[in-house]
Amino acid sequence: MKCVYCKLNTRVTDKRESPNGTRRRRECLKCKKRFTTYEKADKKSIIIVKKDNRREPFSVDKLKDGLMRACMKRPISVEKIEKIIEDVEEKLKSKGKEVRSNKIGKMVMSRLKKLDKVAYIRFASVYMDFKDIKDFKEVISEV
Ligand SMILES: [Zn+2]
Repeated sequence: MKCVYCKLNTRVTDKRESPNGTRRRRECLKCKKRFTTYEKADKKSIIIVKKDNRREPFSVDKLKDGLMRACMKRPISVEKIEKIIEDVEEKLKSKGKEVRSNKIGKMVMSRLKKLDKVAYIRFASVYMDFKDIKDFKEVISEV
């Protein structure tokens, strides 16, 4: 989340549940100003359908985790990663309640591809859960 004053990155200093949603105290890393945000889960939450048809709620944190790992030591800013997640989330919400996991993977990959080839291949190898080297070669040849 960006600082409301200078638009730079903030850190969370305190987090608790409140009737208005999750309350977070934030402090700007740059100007050190503090402010509070309230966040409510969207009632229309998105359900991911896995390959084996198991279902689980879409988790921004999980997706971010995967993306951060793929982008490790690559010249990609956290802002860019967050932008991808925002984009994908918005798109998912317009799609309806259930989305197949590989669809999400593809959405992310198409954005990552434009950003960084190495991160793209890393993400693809984790997310697409390659069964054999042939799948992997296909993705690489697409790059
Ligand atoms: Zn600031």
